[in-house]
Amino acid sequence: MRTQVAIIGAGPAGLLLGQLLHKNGIDNVILERQTADYVLSRIRAGVIEQVTMDLLDQAGVGARMHADGLVHDGVQICVDGIRHRLSFKELTGKTVMVYGQTEITKDLMDGRAAVGAPTVYSAHDVSLHDIFSDKPRVTYRSEGEPRELVCDFIAGCDGFHGVSRPSVPAGAITAYERVYPLGWLGILSDTPPVSEELIYVRHPRGFALCSMRTPTRSRYYIQCSVAEDIEAWPDQRFWDELKPRLDDEARGHLVTGASIEKSIAPLRSFVAAPMRFGRLFLAGDAAHIVPPTGAKGLNLAASDVQYLSRALVEHYADKSNAGLDHYSERALKRVWKAERFSWWMTMTLHRISDNPFDHQLQLAELDYLFRSKAAATAFAENYVGLPY
Ligand SMILES: Cc1cc2nc3c(=O)[nH]c(=O)nc-3n(C[C@H](O)[C@H](O)[C@H](O)COP(=O)(O)OP(=O)(O)OC[C@H]3O[C@@H](n4cnc5c(N)ncnc54)[C@H](O)[C@@H]3O)c2cc1C
Repeated sequence: MRTQVAIIGAGPAGLLLGQLLHKNGIDNVILERQTADYVLSRIRAGVIEQVTMDLLDQAGVGARMHADGLVHDGVQICVDGIRHRLSFKELTGKTVMVYGQTEITKDLMDGRAAVGAPTVYSAHDVSLHDIFSDKPRVTYRSEGEPRELVCDFIAGCDGFHGVSRPSVPAGAITAYERVYPLGWLGILSDTPPVSEELIYVRHPRGFALCSMRTPTRSRYYIQCSVAEDIEAWPDQRFWDELKPRLDDEARGHLVTGASIEKSIAPLRSFVAAPMRFGRLFLAGDAAHIVPPTGAKGLNLAASDVQYLSRALVEHYADKSNAGLDHYSERALKRVWKAERFSWWMTMTLHRISDNPFDHQLQLAELDYLFRSKAAATAFAENYVGLPY
């Protein structure tokens, strides 16, 4: 088989890239290790920046997001039982959208199916070849048969545990990493949210987040140890641990119920640089990971795809390689700012250590955030998403 761009991975990065390339007349094939149902069953991100919404509109898949997504003008931060509100709208004129990653993935899959663009699900043993030549190849097994895909470029959109990044010669890549000594225990339940806006909670017992997917579906997280066993957390224990971390009003509004999903996510910051190796381009979680505190993972995947899709369109339409040559540098500039913001939110809101000095610094950071318009504006600018 031959195509212009071989895309590894049908997560948000791969599917969005495929759709934007297709809109611009560039052939692409997506190779995904899992089945479509498995990809759709992963419960992940939920907060979408304006720039990500604009990209989904450009890809022609934004209609359901605008109909069903929840526009959020601000966010609330609760410090030791006292709630404070930061208005994105007043501070930046911008908003964010709450719309689940699962729904975005479904919209992108439907969009791809509607235009008949090829996706090979259950593609096994995907392997990248000749990435520094003019004719890179990808080999894989489908329905038990060996296959080969010859292409002009490979987009490695296969997440943190994918095959693309490890295909690069070790000496050509630098990894920057920080692993936090904590995780998030998350629960999804068909219960109404405690608040119309997200509430980030800083509490001596540990961080919590009250989030939602729809007016009847809530997503809650509590800080836990990375070594925690999910089996040790029946629903009632989760609710019993969440309640004391909340303020009185939120506790009064909390409706508990059976979980429909429960998982533990470790918190990690990671950047691989550069993001281009010959004809292989990394995008999304394949190149970087942020702790979910700043809600940036999915949005960074989208911004990488914006730079990469434009660069590929320039290559084919204008015969210019300028965008491809600058892809890594451009993407990494935005990545590092999101890494900084996600690290700052994580370090400011979690119980990171037992050292009282660290606790006082957190309280000073938060007091400054609530009292200084300059600090609040900087927070809001980062939360709604920095310009591309
Ligand atoms: C538990 C959890 C909670 C999260 N919560 C948030 C949040 O609240 N807010 C936020 O912004 N972000 C969150 N994130 C991060 C966000 O979900 C990711 O940043 C986003 O999914 C990145 O998209 P991606 O397409 O780059 O990678 P992925 O979504 O990981 O997609 C990669 C795809 O590649 C496929 N693949 C992997 N290996 C291979 C292979 N060898 N061959 C073929 N295909 C392969 C995978 O099956 C997958 O479908 C969360 C992540 C996790 C794990």
